[in-house]
Amino acid sequence: MLPLGDDTLDADHIVSNLRDIEKRIAAACQKSERARESVRLLLATKTVSADRIRVALEAGATLVGENKVQEFIAKSDALADLTYERHYIGHLQSNKIKQVLRYVNCIQSIDSVELARKLQDRLEFEDRTVDILVQVNTSYEASKFGVDPDQAEHAVREIARFDRLRIRGLMTIGLLFSHGERARRCFVKLRQLREQIEQLQIEGVEMQELSMGMSPDFEEAIAEGATTVRIGMSVFGRRPTPDGYFWKESDR
Ligand SMILES: *Cc1c(COP(=O)(O)O)cnc(C)c1O
Repeated sequence: MLPLGDDTLDADHIVSNLRDIEKRIAAACQKSERARESVRLLLATKTVSADRIRVALEAGATLVGENKVQEFIAKSDALADLTYERHYIGHLQSNKIKQVLRYVNCIQSIDSVELARKLQDRLEFEDRTVDILVQVNTSYEASKFGVDPDQAEHAVREIARFDRLRIRGLMTIGLLFSHGERARRCFVKLRQLREQIEQLQIEGVEMQELSMGMSPDFEEAIAEGATTVRIGMSVFGRRPTPDGYFWKESDR
């Protein structure tokens, strides 16, 4: 068991965990004969304080993802003196779009055409664009956000009509608390969907990015072609809040 959350993991511990993950990513890349540069590490920092994120950023991390708009804004403010990429990876309520756009470089969790439409409206108003990934619910678990795999092609086609959203690829959470073959099936599914959608050559749609793999299963995700792995606990320790709080349907 990892030590519990924010208060017990000191800076040295975070840095050594980060080094360890770096090594494991490099080894997984080598095993699949992929270039190390083809996979990015995103630190999933829900519940982690800005000070601790700062430790990781100063140790070389470049990409951070948050699940809740309030946390995203507060920590982005606190870390405004540092240069790093800020992604949003949680379910986004449409009334929070304006806030999230203040800092975000990429919204990985576009999980409905309706949300995309509202994002488009706001981006038109601000006269700008934003990178997005379409989130797919590859595990078919009702408790998770994302479009159904069977609907993914349709959703991408619809979202592609919103010219302010630059579709870069797909994201999935996969099966919770699972690794091995069961988790791998979700990653295979996402990879196949990417290939399928890529072949359609939909105007304005790029499909390079596959954001998949978390602490228990990122090595399998890399073997299946992940371009971004999202890791929290293995760097920062166990979280005080159950993940259901971040992922459940009741959040809508
Ligand atoms: C928390 C979270 C992660 C990272 O999970 P860990 O098990 O802490 O590595 C990845 N993706 C999303 C969307 C998350 O909410």
